[in-house]
Amino acid sequence: MQRYSVFSLVSNALRGNQHWERAWRDPDPKEEYDVVIVGGGGHGLATAYYLAKEHGINKVAVLEKGYLGGGNAGRNTTIVRSNYMIDGNTQFYEHSLKLWHGLSQDLNYNVMFSPRGYVALATSQAQMDASAFRANSMRMNGIDAELLTREQVQKLLPYLDCSPNARFPVYGGLWQGRAGTARHDAVNWGFARAADSRGVDIIQQCEVLGYLWDGGRIVGVETTRGNIRAKKVALAVAGSTTLLGQKAGLELPIESHLLQAFVTEPIKPMIDYVIAYGTAHFYISQSDKGGLVLGGDLDGYNSYAQRGNLPIVDEVLTVAKALIPALSRLRVLRHWAGVMDMSMDGSPIICKAPVDGLYLNCGWCYGGFKATPASGFAFAHTIAKDEPYETNARFTLDRFRRGYQIDEKGAGPTPGAH
Ligand SMILES: Cc1cc2nc3c(=O)[nH]c(=O)nc-3n(C[C@H](O)[C@H](O)[C@H](O)COP(=O)(O)OP(=O)(O)OC[C@H]3O[C@@H](n4cnc5c(N)ncnc54)[C@H](O)[C@@H]3O)c2cc1C
Repeated sequence: MQRYSVFSLVSNALRGNQHWERAWRDPDPKEEYDVVIVGGGGHGLATAYYLAKEHGINKVAVLEKGYLGGGNAGRNTTIVRSNYMIDGNTQFYEHSLKLWHGLSQDLNYNVMFSPRGYVALATSQAQMDASAFRANSMRMNGIDAELLTREQVQKLLPYLDCSPNARFPVYGGLWQGRAGTARHDAVNWGFARAADSRGVDIIQQCEVLGYLWDGGRIVGVETTRGNIRAKKVALAVAGSTTLLGQKAGLELPIESHLLQAFVTEPIKPMIDYVIAYGTAHFYISQSDKGGLVLGGDLDGYNSYAQRGNLPIVDEVLTVAKALIPALSRLRVLRHWAGVMDMSMDGSPIICKAPVDGLYLNCGWCYGGFKATPASGFAFAHTIAKDEPYETNARFTLDRFRRGYQIDEKGAGPTPGAH
């Protein structure tokens, strides 16, 4: 594989950029693999990469029904952070943040990770108390966190309406300096290229329709490009997990919900940090191209369609204007939706399924993008060793039966509460 470097950039530029190699191959599916990963989003690709890199397992195929990153991996608002509080989540997301900090070097691909800092606003004294609690819990786990006063927030974000007349007056905030954003497409392409270079077959336009069985064991998949046998089949299909789970006889504690994102016309640099506003479930940051990227709450109904509804458009833009009045004349260029699989405790599931030969990676809710490297790392370990890695030991499916849920916020079948 051609390595990217300053030298390769300069020499290709001098030769008119005619000699770049394809970033990854386009192979036909083979009859059999050691591991078939279903889903060519960030999680599936990262799993394939770490299977090859950490465990030397490279007879691996990633099967994607559309194109790489066409699902949530290319539709999210790219926020990366580790400000979690509950044991299990805390250690897992911090592992992910550490991997993000070295990812471009590891993949030899610029994933445009930008640790610009993240501030979660508090809009009541109760939220300030909760933020202090969270900050202490994070620091006890060795994670950077700082409580900001209203004055500090106002200094950091001068365009914010911090007046007492604001719709939700700002009391302060919780700051994580190592958090930020990464370019989602670059993350997918970086993992794809690095996995391919280690022998993984990445097969697009290949939808998995069902499973091949030998007695009660899954021994492969039926696809639109024929049957493919595999010693192990691993699902990383985000919003489609319930559908593929049902085909394996599994009823999962997951609902598929829509989440929308928005981008405005590009403007000069204005918002330096990622800002989250829990009261209205709103968040905003500025992309490297200048567009403001913003998002809000779930659409509130279950669907598998990748488009959103208008009431949420109204809600998100109203909050944007209330929080930052200067945005009122900015035009929105695009909005879209992704189908997310919301688990009933808001935390993921990475484990062996209760069906022989099948492995599950699902239930990512709002936070799956930031999890991509650690999820791939832990899932690869689970598939290779048939036991969890230390960071996903609690992310079992049977925690819902045993009553050991990892409830970061909200309880019961209310995905909107997470
Ligand atoms: C609008 C929005 C904003 C978000 N913002 C953030 C954020 O700021 N930070 C954050 O951490 N997370 C965020 N998320 C969540 C995050 O994007 C997801 O949790 C994460 O991308 C999931 O990655 P994935 O690889 O599991 O899924 P996906 O990228 O959805 O990949 C799954 C793939 O499986 C494929 N597939 C499905 N069924 C089949 C089949 N039968 N056969 C073959 N292939 C199949 C799909 O085509 C898809 O490409 C956001 C999500 C949305 C929708």
